[in-house]
Amino acid sequence: MRHIAVIGSGPAGYYTAEACQKTFGDAVRVDIVDRLPVPYGLIRTGVAPDHQSIKGVSRRYEAVALTENVRFVGNVSVGKDVSIEELRELYDAVVLATGAPLDRPLEIPGADLPGVVGSAAFVGWYNGHPDFAGLGPALHGPGAVVIGNGNVALDVARILSKTEAEFDGSDIVAHALTLLRASKIDTVTLLGRRGPHQIAMTPKELGELGHLTRAQPLVDASDFPPPEDDGLLEPGQRKSVTHLRDFAGREEDPAKSVRIIFDFFAMPVRIEGSGRAERVIVERTALDAAGNATGTGETYAIPASLVVSCIGYRTPPIEGIPYDDRAGRFANDEGRVLPGLYAVGWARRGPTGTIGTNRPDGFAIAEKIAADIGEGSGKAGRPALDSLLESRGVDVVTFRDWQKIEAAETAAAREGAPREKFTSIEEMLGARGT
Ligand code: NAP
Repeated sequence: MRHIAVIGSGPAGYYTAEACQKTFGDAVRVDIVDRLPVPYGLIRTGVAPDHQSIKGVSRRYEAVALTENVRFVGNVSVGKDVSIEELRELYDAVVLATGAPLDRPLEIPGADLPGVVGSAAFVGWYNGHPDFAGLGPALHGPGAVVIGNGNVALDVARILSKTEAEFDGSDIVAHALTLLRASKIDTVTLLGRRGPHQIAMTPKELGELGHLTRAQPLVDASDFPPPEDDGLLEPGQRKSVTHLRDFAGREEDPAKSVRIIFDFFAMPVRIEGSGRAERVIVERTALDAAGNATGTGETYAIPASLVVSCIGYRTPPIEGIPYDDRAGRFANDEGRVLPGLYAVGWARRGPTGTIGTNRPDGFAIAEKIAADIGEGSGKAGRPALDSLLESRGVDVVTFRDWQKIEAAETAAAREGAPREKFTSIEEMLGARGT
């Protein structure tokens, strides 16, 4: 028997569990440990609430969770309730699937002013992550600046721009919907330090901006290189740029009350305001021969009461575990971190790729585990973890408990919504008794 502990119940964690099941059949026990009482990580608290079809992948993870050899061990904080070293003693393999929940720091003066938030907090807020439920972002407007030209920046711009009716069928949490309903933001500026050809936005997500009820994307046609240069892009990127060119070719519609301005070649240099964010000072950039943004010295100000920094994420380091500080993830050799310790997903490769990228990642790590641990080495596994947690009075949440929490969230859903999420750990734990 092989005993495997996976830390983190997001996509990387569940695809690893699924891969271990397929690789080892009945001869494996996988415990998926999560610090929250609810599973699915990024699927629940990262993927945008109006992208329900993406969130549907959790049904696949549920099928894995309901098998005999995989277990959800929720409400257990590794590092507090149990240490990595203890897990390594008890299991043949420990897999870090902890994602990248920290924002890459925005290292400019004024980044600590009230009104400036990172995307982890902002996305966590509208998705009901207990850590960010109380964020209460400044939506008094009229300007918001979103820094970054990736898919997270797009999510944030779209959420800030939608009407209430456009959230029908989503699972945006009530506290966010209430604040967004009263939002006075009428201009969302997306700051890209490079140009239209360098965006990190995917075509489907970018295209959505062209179909919003009250908001319109505005792109300056003079920011583009000659059209024939689009042929040099890889197909997905070319499609995204086609959307941008379409936006640039549209007449500004005076009937639309919210403007989403793509400000390319624009690098934030500081955030100013008396006591809170009021404006972002931006420097015009040009691309150097290597394609990097360099400042031109020309600066201007964009009024903004809200600044959301969407410039990528980092994996939190864990004391004693090798860490690649430059890349913001665990140092690893194709997933191997230390003997018996592995990393998958964003914790292994950094915050890139889609949810589906984690599937081959899971299989690759299962193969390495198989090569390293053979038939298993008689480790104590599950029962020993249970005794340890019980001796420490840890209130473990099982998958059956989660199903009760989920049923209570479904029952509380407003009309047309799939669920109304609990946004505090106490509420989640309380719902087990219902
Ligand atoms: P990302 O794709 O890496 O984009 C980060 C953006 O921030 C880039 O435009 C980057 O510009 C910019 N940036 C970095 N440092 C900066 C700085 N100091 N100042 C100004 N701009 C800076 O990251 P992400 O948007 O957080 O997305 C993370 C991953 O999740 C991606 O793989 C993404 O596709 C995925 N995701 C997918 C979806 C979806 O499919 N619907 C939704 C959300 C996220 P440079 O290029 O110049 O560095």
